[in-house]
Amino acid sequence: MTRISTERYNNNLYIPKPSQILLVKHMAKISVNKETCIACGVCWALVPDVFELDPNTGKTRIRPPYVVNDDEKTSEGNIPNELIDAVKNAASSCPTGSIIVE
Ligand code: SF4
Repeated sequence: MTRISTERYNNNLYIPKPSQILLVKHMAKISVNKETCIACGVCWALVPDVFELDPNTGKTRIRPPYVVNDDEKTSEGNIPNELIDAVKNAASSCPTGSIIVE
């Protein structure tokens, strides 16, 4: 029988910092497809802390501090737990299904 040494296991165990645990447990990934967004403004009205008009593309983008990537086609971000329900509501209200919450 092969026995894994506890010491070796502990040596290989990755113990995240508390701030990293919070990122995993209390954030959700969101994205906006700018190619399908028709700039109706529903999401800006429902969750103005997260969504706004991108003046460069005329489409929706995710606002700081939540945005992590923004280009001509997509805006991606991470939102805290307290905004998930509001963003899910915006996603279900989007007439083109351009908002994804993971
Ligand atoms: S609700 Fe959808 S279509 Fe309307 S602005 Fe927001 S992402 Fe664009």
